[in-house]
Amino acid sequence: MPSADADFADLLVVGGGPAGLRAAEVASRAGAGRIVLCDAMPSVGRKFLVAGRGGLNLTHSESVERFPARYGAEPERWTALLARCSPTDLRAWAEGLGVETYIGTSGRVFPRGQQAARLLRAWVSRLRTAGVEFRMKARWTGLERNGERWRVDFADGRQIDAAAVVLALGGASWPETGSDGRWPEVLAAHGVAIAPWQPANCGWECVWPASFLAEAEGQPLKNLAVRAGARTVRGELLITRYGLEGGAIYQLGRELRERPELQLDLKPDLSVDALLARGSDWQRDWKLSPAAAALLEHFGDVRCATAAAASAKALRLDLTGPRPIAEAISSAGGVRWAELDERLMLRRLPGVFVAGEMIDWEAPTGGYLLQGCFATGDAAAHGALEWLALRGGADRARQG
Ligand SMILES: Cc1cc2nc3c(=O)[nH]c(=O)nc-3n(C[C@H](O)[C@H](O)[C@H](O)COP(=O)(O)OP(=O)(O)OC[C@H]3O[C@@H](n4cnc5c(N)ncnc54)[C@H](O)[C@@H]3O)c2cc1C
Repeated sequence: MPSADADFADLLVVGGGPAGLRAAEVASRAGAGRIVLCDAMPSVGRKFLVAGRGGLNLTHSESVERFPARYGAEPERWTALLARCSPTDLRAWAEGLGVETYIGTSGRVFPRGQQAARLLRAWVSRLRTAGVEFRMKARWTGLERNGERWRVDFADGRQIDAAAVVLALGGASWPETGSDGRWPEVLAAHGVAIAPWQPANCGWECVWPASFLAEAEGQPLKNLAVRAGARTVRGELLITRYGLEGGAIYQLGRELRERPELQLDLKPDLSVDALLARGSDWQRDWKLSPAAAALLEHFGDVRCATAAAASAKALRLDLTGPRPIAEAISSAGGVRWAELDERLMLRRLPGVFVAGEMIDWEAPTGGYLLQGCFATGDAAAHGALEWLALRGGADRARQG
């Protein structure tokens, strides 16, 4: 039984990012009883709002069958997770909150007209109307078994006894939004294996000569093929004072963490012979952008046209490391999949479920991050509902 001085919830959701809000939504729709959502910050959804500044890429329009590969490991789990909460479901969810979505030229799905704040306001208001109780400035610090329930501790000394708990505490990038990556020590104390944090979808550093920066800083490199390890992607890069940013490098994080070396093809649609056929003066004849020409001049072999063509097709850049995790769009690391059963319940802590970026997965930008957070939030809520239903049945049987 809950103690006199501890509050009680049927379901306690800790963390009010998209994963936690989705879990509360699914549970409240199913009538899970008293649902309390706690967050350390004064308001929920702060990283969601930051994502909104870039247009809020909600999901992607490619076929759902292609999604699991975007998340790297555990394709069978992702297939099951996305079957329950698909990209189509996510678009319907936004539209249900009065915000229309559209597919951009890249195939990415966005809410029409920079609507992240409106979406969040409507979402929270609908949850409040449905009876979800919000407790802000409530920093979770631990939990321990209390009979049939979990006693959950907060930094200010408050406690909540909960029949089921969903933890959705986020990753470790942009700590000012609340997801400061400090929760692993609490779960590690219960023996839960946690993969260390690593920046993902982030810029990489390299040492540029001052003369190169004077020519190329702030300039884009468009229509490139970029290779790291065994993977090549097409896309864009931006030359910055410290190194490189851009979609192409964000997609190669896993490979770059293994070996921080890039190979750029500055003219991916032309062969070496086709380049040479354009003329032997690479600066005049090859139509390289100013940034691409500066790269070739400073990092390639331009002693003759043949050498310059070979360099333009395979220009090697050594990177010195990723930008700090605080700046990254997302993080890799977190609760290892092996710790979770198919309902996203921690095997060591029955009745405690996890969702969102706190699980050890990563995905490129393109809407796959929010889609992953919604899908895992949805699954954790269903897991918790199943758990509560079984416990309710057990309680009734005991009372009978
Ligand atoms: C600049 C930027 C742009 C982005 N753009 C996109 C995009 O366009 N598309 C996309 O798909 N993704 C995007 N993302 C990523 C996306 O926002 C995240 O993947 C997503 O917000 C993670 O959701 P979450 O619910 O797992 O965690 P979060 O949103 O990080 O929420 C976690 C919550 O837990 C709370 N919390 C943490 N610790 C505690 C504690 N001890 N006690 C209580 N509460 C706690 C935090 O305060 C926070 O509210 C972007 C991210 C950034 C930084």
